[in-house]
Amino acid sequence: MARRMRSQSYLLALTLIAPVLLVRDKPARAGTVANACLITAAQEPAGLIIPVAGVRASELRDTFNQARAEGRTHNAIDIMAARDTSVLAVADGEVVKLFYSERGGNTIYQLSKDKQFVFYYAHLARYAEGLKQGHKARQGEVLAYVGDTGNAGAGNYHLHFAIWLVTDKKRYWDGINLNPYPILRKAPELTRPGPFPGTAREEERL
Ligand SMILES: [Zn+2]
Repeated sequence: MARRMRSQSYLLALTLIAPVLLVRDKPARAGTVANACLITAAQEPAGLIIPVAGVRASELRDTFNQARAEGRTHNAIDIMAARDTSVLAVADGEVVKLFYSERGGNTIYQLSKDKQFVFYYAHLARYAEGLKQGHKARQGEVLAYVGDTGNAGAGNYHLHFAIWLVTDKKRYWDGINLNPYPILRKAPELTRPGPFPGTAREEERL
């Protein structure tokens, strides 16, 4: 009996790990491969909402494995939207960095409440008024607005959104990339286009 239970839990562990190994696409480095083996299904952020107001889960496209310049892989999802559409916090968590980069343009790094994951928002037109590093954002809060900054291409308005599992707490900007697509597909589907109910919190304050 004990042996059967052991083999069952071994099989369960394999089932949990296999999908995670499949989404790994970084060049294999000893450290990250070892870390990837530690990921279980529990190490995936749960309860996220779509980070762009009015976009339905069924409208998302999986662009995680797309090739990019210089042999890079996308490792993110692009969510197309009109310029200045509200970008919403996918979950509660601290805004740990506001950063302008050549590729990402205006970007936000948000650390999940349990400090396991970073949510990365890029190509932003601008930040929400008064947004500062250290702000403890609430899910659904407007953090910024969709733009085409960085290497998005002029007029190619979209949110570049990435999620990674932080493997070294001192290096929140690095970690194991998770495909946001299957995670965001689990977000509650909107019944009609419009701002996500979470933005009501923002509106109440106005
Ligand atoms: Zn992108």
